[in-house]
Amino acid sequence: MRPALSSVLSRLLIDRSGGHRRLVLDAFASAMRFERFDDEERRARQDRSLADLLNHAARCVPFYKDRLSAARISPVEARAALRALPVISRADVQTNPESFFAQGVEGHRLDATGGSTGTPLRFRVDAATQRAREASLYWADSLAGWRYGERIAMLWGSDKDVKTSSQIARANLRWWLDNRRWYNAFNMGPAEMDRFHCEMTRFAPHIVVAYAGSMEVFARYLEDRGIKPAYPLRSIISSAEMLTPSARETIERVFGRPVFNRYGNREFGAVAAECHEHNGLHLNERDMIVEIDSPDPVNEPGRLIVTYLHNRAMPFIRYDTGDLARFAPATACPCGRLTPRLAALVGRASDTIRTATGKLIHGEFFTHLLYSARHVREFQFVQETLNTYRLLLVASEREPPEREAKWRADILEEVGADACLEIEYVDRIPVLPSGKRKFTLSKVT
Ligand SMILES: [Zn+2]
Repeated sequence: MRPALSSVLSRLLIDRSGGHRRLVLDAFASAMRFERFDDEERRARQDRSLADLLNHAARCVPFYKDRLSAARISPVEARAALRALPVISRADVQTNPESFFAQGVEGHRLDATGGSTGTPLRFRVDAATQRAREASLYWADSLAGWRYGERIAMLWGSDKDVKTSSQIARANLRWWLDNRRWYNAFNMGPAEMDRFHCEMTRFAPHIVVAYAGSMEVFARYLEDRGIKPAYPLRSIISSAEMLTPSARETIERVFGRPVFNRYGNREFGAVAAECHEHNGLHLNERDMIVEIDSPDPVNEPGRLIVTYLHNRAMPFIRYDTGDLARFAPATACPCGRLTPRLAALVGRASDTIRTATGKLIHGEFFTHLLYSARHVREFQFVQETLNTYRLLLVASEREPPEREAKWRADILEEVGADACLEIEYVDRIPVLPSGKRKFTLSKVT
């Protein structure tokens, strides 16, 4: 569909369910203004949001009732109050989620992440967070040259288990209105990639959003067959895992379009995104305050810690994302945005699993699979040989047998019914000699 038509239809029809899209677009416009405010103005706005958040947490969130003063925190005091609070890990939240849920907040819903670092988490979001996350993705897409209404191809994972057929029909209508098509990155054999190529050639997306590893696999597949794709019209956005220089180079060579790196997660949407200068990722400062836990955060990577300013149902305050990053040097970006930038992200490593039949399974398949976990604190999926696999789980207690059986069936469906799969409960997941953690690990070269 033409971008202008999609932009009109999606506004009109999606807004029939309570003005949601209008509010998302307002937040998107506000994000575009925010990054042009000078340092003082941005900081003042963040301080006001932060003070509101901390006062809310002091009143309504059990974990913070004793840790924050009963007296009202002013915007001027907010940063110091924040620095005095502990850093929270995913494991802290997992162990005692109720203490992080706000009491007396209506209208929240449950969400879950498999966790980029192999730690699943169930959490709550309110409507403001759902809108802000959507708007943050528009913002990040717009840094890669996308305009509202333009066609987007998503080479991404699918949550196939959680939808009834009527939900699927509604979602499909919505994606059609939004000019968005999905291509399943969890199932990328030669036949599927041929189909992706045909469909994308017809669809002619302006941008493709993809896992870095999946896009590289797709690029190599097309290149090996001498295919020069005519899409996307504008750019490729790489997300969800580290983009290596060689992956970027391969994708740009095959598609003839620039790659824009993005960093985000399920909890907060887009955290940082690259602009057309490609010299680091601008931080999404409207939605969050980002700290890097390092004595020299420009030269020495440290834990990336986020305080998310919107979610009243479950405030994330000094939350350790599990990722490591550095700040880019504090020089002005020629693009005119005034927000600070992240340089390299470290970590977020997963291996793509190649099965005995040559099928490729992206690591994010397993994070999606583990959405349904209740007691798992950490996991790792290991390919020992072409046909033997182990799912290692660190858990507070065993998952029910029917859940384990479901995981087993889903994994065997992907890796092959004749494969040997062990599900093992272990005390800890071994860290690689490099110090990195991988949530999928293939020992097959
Ligand atoms: Zn820039």
